[in-house]
Amino acid sequence: MAVPRNRVSNAKKNSRRAHHAKKPKNLSGCPHCGVSKLPHRMCSSCGHYKGKAIISSAT
Ligand SMILES: [Zn+2]
Repeated sequence: MAVPRNRVSNAKKNSRRAHHAKKPKNLSGCPHCGVSKLPHRMCSSCGHYKGKAIISSAT
């Protein structure tokens, strides 16, 4: 197993982790009911996906 030759300084470690921040979720509006939903997922409010009702029991 590879072993680090030198200890990574706090500044080097922190500057590497400067790019690790979480991005906000990519939400888009449902074309059927307008509620914001995740892309490529069925709408949890009306049960529609790609213009078709996947779950008919939902309103
Ligand atoms: Zn919807």
